[in-house]
Amino acid sequence: MEERLPAELLELVRKAGEVAASQGQRLYLVGGAVRDLLLGQPSLDLDLVVEGHAPELARHLARAWGGEVLAHPHFGTAKFRRGELSIDLVTARSETYSRPGALPNVKPGSIDDDLLRRDFTINAMAIHLDPASYGELVDPYHGRGDLDQRLIRILHPKSFVDDATRILRALRYEQRLDFQLEATTAELLRQDTPMLDSITGDRIRHELELILREAYPEKALVQAQELGVLARIHPSLRGDSWLAERFGEARELTPGTPPEPSLYLCLLIHRLSKEGNELLIRRLRMAKATARTMRDTLTLKSELPALAEPCLPPSSIYRLLERYSPAALLANALASDSPLVRQRLHLFLDELRYVKLSLNGEDLKRLGAPPGPRLGRMLQALHEAKLDGEAKTRQEEEELVGRWLRLVEDDS
Ligand code: ATP
Repeated sequence: MEERLPAELLELVRKAGEVAASQGQRLYLVGGAVRDLLLGQPSLDLDLVVEGHAPELARHLARAWGGEVLAHPHFGTAKFRRGELSIDLVTARSETYSRPGALPNVKPGSIDDDLLRRDFTINAMAIHLDPASYGELVDPYHGRGDLDQRLIRILHPKSFVDDATRILRALRYEQRLDFQLEATTAELLRQDTPMLDSITGDRIRHELELILREAYPEKALVQAQELGVLARIHPSLRGDSWLAERFGEARELTPGTPPEPSLYLCLLIHRLSKEGNELLIRRLRMAKATARTMRDTLTLKSELPALAEPCLPPSSIYRLLERYSPAALLANALASDSPLVRQRLHLFLDELRYVKLSLNGEDLKRLGAPPGPRLGRMLQALHEAKLDGEAKTRQEEEELVGRWLRLVEDDS
């Protein structure tokens, strides 16, 4: 901890341990942060578990040190924030499952109870923050050994049955850390994959989103296909070399900045039928905006032949593409085999969508255009002319409008 945590965060954590001890409570660092510290990776996202009462401890911390508390007493959780630093405090708890896939029944418990409810041995370790035992590792399930052997192992044989989201979590950690599923875990994972049906759409979607936020999401998706996990979520979803290549190309577009998860999602659903897409939207209870982007992806895909017509002026390209969301456009650019289609999608994304007129309706009126619907049409025609390079500057826009107005006058 001393080496890997920033000094200020370390001081906060140490102080929190002292304040907890003064209240007769015991505090631990838990979960992903312990795993990452032992792997030698820095972690700024700290989860602390207290044998006691987290909201009460957070308030004591604020009193002793200043800072803000956001407490959820009903859940026994609190966030403590001081300047830039923040830590999440949770009351140690034990969990039981009334039926597979249900949310657990929760009651206060010890640190061992709290670790037992976790997903994998490598996430089920804690570090004492109590001054008397500061820095000691709590490792009842031999997570450290599994870290050394690079294994993802569940804590008990019913783990995937209790909560099948752990199936997706297992694949995410396996691929992120470049670990392997321990043999029994792998066997149970295959066997219990049908339990994914017992999980609500919201929870599956959340885990899928976490996968799409990984550095190389395709790795977990390819593995999910091989193990039959992806097909359990939706029979036509595929995690294959096509997808892996497209994800890689998506990253190359913005080196140093990971693609938006929505772009990965659009690529993932790109080969679904429209009906299949609707099924997935319903199953995962997608938010309205996400559902729209997913539908956009497939509608645009069906309209791409129009974009492959020869000799399309930029204004026509604009009209064909203006109603689609950027992720849908980019996904189709990455997915299309046609260089011309790709080039036109990129022309729209990189240039055409930013083309704006210098003149507005008021300017047109000032130049003599009569108010009314024709004004709107003239603005649109002017925009198209600008897209097609016929009016580059404000002055050229004014000249073009002037010519059009004279033509109208001559006609009447
Ligand atoms: P990371 O993705 O780096 O592990 P994290 O540790 O913050 O980040 P979260 O998804 O926030 O991961 O989960 C925090 C901890 O809660 C995990 O380390 C794990 O022990 C536990 N956890 C999360 N989801 C489950 C689950 N479905 N079943 C059991 N334990 C879980």
